[in-house]
Amino acid sequence: MSKNNDELFKNVISHAKEYGFVFQSSEIYDGLSAVYDYGQNGAELKNNIKTYWWKSMVQMHENIVGIDSAIFMHPTTWKASGHVDGFNDPMIDNKDSKKRYRADQLLEDKIARYEKDGKSAKAEQLQEAMDQALKSDDLTGLRDLIVEHEIACPVSGTRNWTDVRQFNLMFSTQIGAIAEESDKIYLRPETAQGIFVNYLNVQKTGRMKIPFGIAQIGKAFRNEVIARQFIMRMREFEQMEMQFFVRPGSEMEWYDYWKQTRLKWHKALGTSPEKYRFHDHTKLAHYANAAVDIEFEFPFGFKEVEGIHSRTDFDLSQHQKFSGKKIQYFDPEINQNYTPYVIETSIGLDRMFLLTMINAFEEQDLSEGDKKDSRTLLRLHPCLAPVKAAIFPLTKKDGLPEKAREIMNSIKLDHNVIYEEKDAIGKRYRRQDAIGTPFCITVDHQSLEDNTVTIRERDSMQQERVAIDKLNQIIAEKVSWKNLLN
Ligand code: ATP
Repeated sequence: MSKNNDELFKNVISHAKEYGFVFQSSEIYDGLSAVYDYGQNGAELKNNIKTYWWKSMVQMHENIVGIDSAIFMHPTTWKASGHVDGFNDPMIDNKDSKKRYRADQLLEDKIARYEKDGKSAKAEQLQEAMDQALKSDDLTGLRDLIVEHEIACPVSGTRNWTDVRQFNLMFSTQIGAIAEESDKIYLRPETAQGIFVNYLNVQKTGRMKIPFGIAQIGKAFRNEVIARQFIMRMREFEQMEMQFFVRPGSEMEWYDYWKQTRLKWHKALGTSPEKYRFHDHTKLAHYANAAVDIEFEFPFGFKEVEGIHSRTDFDLSQHQKFSGKKIQYFDPEINQNYTPYVIETSIGLDRMFLLTMINAFEEQDLSEGDKKDSRTLLRLHPCLAPVKAAIFPLTKKDGLPEKAREIMNSIKLDHNVIYEEKDAIGKRYRRQDAIGTPFCITVDHQSLEDNTVTIRERDSMQQERVAIDKLNQIIAEKVSWKNLLN
C-alpha cells in the first residue's frame, strides 16, 4: 500500500469509529479479532445498502422472491454441499513468530510485489505455479513455492516455516441440552445452502416458473485463518445472495446477464467506472463451470466484493442424492423434467459497506487566503445516507426549538431526520457533513414570520430559502430509490 493509500485507509477506519459507524466488537475487553459491531450510523447505512440490493433484486424482478432461512441447518447439508470435506484454506505457521498465514495469500502478496517491481514474467510464472498447486491440492508444492521465492514472515523476518496444512473454515457447535447426546452442527459459512434446501418449497408454494431466482440476506460465519483489513475479512459477516434457476444449456446466457446487471448496480451509485473490474477465475471450484469476481480498487489494491458463479446443477443434485428427495422441475415448454442449473450472485454486505465508506470519504480544504478551514465529508449517495436531514434551530430560545421540532415531526415518518441545537451552526454543519447527511435545515426568526427555512446541500454547501411545506418533497426527490433503480 502506498503511503497515501495507507493513510486514507487509516483515516477511514478512525472516521468510522469516531462517527458511530463501526466499532471493534467487545472493545471494553480489548476486542475480539475480526469481529465488528455497527454503530448508530453504521446500522442505518448497512440497512440502506440492504434495501438497495433487495429492491433491485426482488422488487424489480417479478421472477425473483426473497426468503430468510435459519443460520443452523441440518448437518447433512454441509456434507452434501462439500463444505465438511472441502471448505479448507491451506495454512502455514512461522516457527519463530508463531504467526499463522494462509499459504496462498503469502504467495499472492509476493506476486503483487513482483508486479509492483516490474517483474511481470516472474509474477506470471508464480501465479501459474500456485494455481496448479491449489488445483491439485498439492500442499508440499505450495510450501516449496514459499521457500523457493524466499518469502519471509512479516513479523519475525525469518523463513522458518512449518508444513502447509488444510484448515476447515466452518465453526461448529452442539445442538441439544446434553452435550453427549447432542449432534455437532455448524454455523453456516454461506447463505446459499438455505436457498437450495428450500428450492422445492419456494418453487411449489410460489408456483415459480423457470427461469426464477431466490434471494436472501443473512449472516455467515467463517473461521478465517488470518483476519485483516478491517471489515474486509471478518469471522462473522453478512452476505446478500441470489440463486437464479435456469434451464440446462442456457446458463452462460444468464451468467452474462447477471455479470452485467450486477456491475450496473454498483455503478449506479456514482462510483467512477475505472474503480471496478471483472476478474475471471482461472481455478474453478469443483461445482462451477464459470466464475467471475467483481473487484473494487480498495486502498490496498483491487479486491473481490462480489462473486458471480455458474454452479451447474451441483448443489441441487447433491441435496437430491443426500436427502433422497426428488428435486426436479417439469418444464412445460419443452415437456421435460430436469434438475435446474444455477447462476449465483453473492456479495458481501460488509465489503460493500467498506467500499461505500472509502468511496465517499473526502477531506476538503476550504481555506481562503490566510483563513484556514477544512471539512471531512462523506459524499454518500443520498439513498444510502444514514440521516437524510438534520434540523437546527438557529438559537435555543424565542420559540425556535419548538418550531424546529414541529418541522421534524412533520418529516420523521417519511425520512430519518435528526434534531440538533448544540454548538454554532457551522460546527453543526460539519458534524452532518462527516456522517454524509444530504440536507441541513435551519430554523431562524424569519421562519416564525413566513414559514420558510434555509436548506443547505451537503456537497455544494449552497443554501436556499424554501417554504416549510416544500421540505418533505425536496427531501423525497433527493432520496428517492428512483434515482438508483429503473
Ligand atoms: P475471499 O476469496 O476474499 O476469501 P471468497 O471467494 O471465499 O472470498 P465467496 O465464498 O465467493 O468469497 O463469498 C461471497 C462474498 O462474500 C465475497 O465476494 C465477499 O464479499 C464476502 N465474504 C466472503 N468471506 C468474507 C469474510 N470473511 N468477511 C467479509 N466478507 C466476506
